[in-house]
Amino acid sequence: MNKIIDGKKIAAAVKLQVKNDVEALAAAGVQVGLAVIIVGENPASQVYVRNKKNDCAEVGIQSFEYALPESTTQQELLALIKKLNADESVSGILCQLPLPAHLDEKSVIEAISPEKDVDAFHPQNVGHIMIGDYTFLPCTPAGIMEMLHCEGISVAGKNCVVVGRSNIVGKPIAALLLEANATVTICHSRTQNLEEHCRRADILVVAVGKPRFIPGDWIKPGAVVIDVGINRVDGALCGDVDESAREVAGYLTPVPGGVGPMTIAELLQNTVKAAKRVL
Ligand code: NDP
Repeated sequence: MNKIIDGKKIAAAVKLQVKNDVEALAAAGVQVGLAVIIVGENPASQVYVRNKKNDCAEVGIQSFEYALPESTTQQELLALIKKLNADESVSGILCQLPLPAHLDEKSVIEAISPEKDVDAFHPQNVGHIMIGDYTFLPCTPAGIMEMLHCEGISVAGKNCVVVGRSNIVGKPIAALLLEANATVTICHSRTQNLEEHCRRADILVVAVGKPRFIPGDWIKPGAVVIDVGINRVDGALCGDVDESAREVAGYLTPVPGGVGPMTIAELLQNTVKAAKRVL
């Protein structure tokens, strides 16, 4: 009998804590604010930004939205970030990715002050994560670790297999699992015998971006399966792990309602952490 990990429920608990923190900060005279920059008309990004705005409102974080036209130049974008870095009412800054092709993501990420970098994408924050001495964690990996913690799933000594090596999910979750004393294998598109690696996993994290990519019979009976993927197939959302995994896994995160809500909750938590630095 497997257990579906309810990301919405755990995220609600995190958000409640954030709301209390926001109120306590307000009582101490500190306003918590998140600036969200979106460039262009990417429909998926527009949905994410709208959701972030609603979630901020739910916990009392003030949100400042900067919806810039597709034609925005690199200089204009960097000038806005510079202004927000200096603005005391802005605790955290997020620039919704991907950016239009003519803009250089790397220099945009590096322009955000590391102290306001609530996505934890700045190389300085990435370096802090690698040495286990950090303020901000990237939101999705932080959400995964929180879910494991809340479910009482211990990581130490376990074989953890991460499929995907992106800078925002695969690499940082591998670093956090390693820090928590797991034995970690990272797989990617050049990995040979992926099936064999997956079958060995006590904890399998899948962040590939391909619908139902991992079949149930690649999963070790009783394993913990964290499905990060968000794919749209015929108008419906599905993960990177096939539904047949439900027959075999010990724990499983659903899509939707698993990692997704946790990612937003951790973003709100990072924004509060950023606001606290002025205390
Ligand atoms: P990326 O496209 O940046 O990375 C995908 C990774 O999958 C790459 O490392 C790639 O390997 C690997 N991969 C691709 N094909 C294979 C294959 N055949 N075998 C093994 N590995 C393969 O994606 P992200 O990490 O940004 O996102 C992954 C998924 O997670 C997406 O569906 C995204 O929408 C979702 N997501 C969900 C979030 C949430 O809050 N739930 C947050 C962020 C992302 P290589 O490096 O060799 O190319």
